Amino acid sequence: MSQVNTTETIFTKIINREIPADIIYEDELSLAFKDINPQAPVHFLVIPKKPIATINDIEEADRVIVGHLYMVAAKLAKEQGYAEDGYRAVMNCNSHGGQTVYHIHLHVLAGKPMGWPPY
Ligand code: 5GP
Repeated sequence: MSQVNTTETIFTKIINREIPADIIYEDELSLAFKDINPQAPVHFLVIPKKPIATINDIEEADRVIVGHLYMVAAKLAKEQGYAEDGYRAVMNCNSHGGQTVYHIHLHVLAGKPMGWPPY
């Protein structure tokens, strides 16, 4: 079962600078920072400033925010030089999806070929 949208997670603390993170991008809707436990040579997370718990909790009004996360991922990929080689941008949902932090986040992984399927 997903949690309510008002749930505060460690990512809210990162947004509010209450705990440190290696922040690589910020705008009015989103924040991007390096994953603390990288699974690829490049691994960062793009999160909305609005705390949405899971993909299941995305509402009609969040369309722009969620689309924006992908725009930020692509912008950073182009700027950092791995857009052409490619990368993976994925969002995990709930336990079977492997979600551990209940504030939606786009994982951006790059710097090597990614495997598929992801298990
Ligand atoms: P999930 O498993 O929910 O899809 O992904 C959560 C991600 O957040 C994991 O890759 C994990 O390494 C990362 N993470 C968890 N806590 C922190 C933290 O305090 N700082 C940073 N930078 N990443 C974190």
